[in-house]
Amino acid sequence: MKICKVCLSSDLLCSGCSRKLDEGMITKTDIALSRALHEINQKSDFIEAFEENGRLFLIVDTKHTKEFIGPGGKNIRKLSEALGKPIKLMEKATGTEKHIIEKLIGAPVLGINKVYSNQKASKENTSGESFKVRVERRYVRNVQPLAGVVGKILNKKVSFVFE
Ligand SMILES: [Zn+2]
Repeated sequence: MKICKVCLSSDLLCSGCSRKLDEGMITKTDIALSRALHEINQKSDFIEAFEENGRLFLIVDTKHTKEFIGPGGKNIRKLSEALGKPIKLMEKATGTEKHIIEKLIGAPVLGINKVYSNQKASKENTSGESFKVRVERRYVRNVQPLAGVVGKILNKKVSFVFE
């Protein structure tokens, strides 16, 4: 978990965990989620979580997905209630970039065109490499809104092309 055992079951933060928060190593969302997980007695940790457009994107290791969802979606529902917002669970797999992206977006990837740019990325620490991910047109509604999130997870500029 992102905070220590004491802080998991307390409303206050110890000095060690407060420092982590101050230094930006963890966020308030991380703390709320860790406490909610502790409450439902779930042991597996999440990889990262962030908010975008009022939704909470929860990124978990593929092998923990079932646990996060729970029987009949019970766990994810409880987490969503505790955090007070809808949660979108995303699986982070290991393997090729294609495989990782497919798991994240829940749709097959036709191919990835990598675009290298010499220009210094003006914002964020992206490597100057961006991905144009090709996906079948029928997935456009589900996949298009995830471009920003997938980019954040991969730390690259990601755009989707539907064909
Ligand atoms: Zn602590």
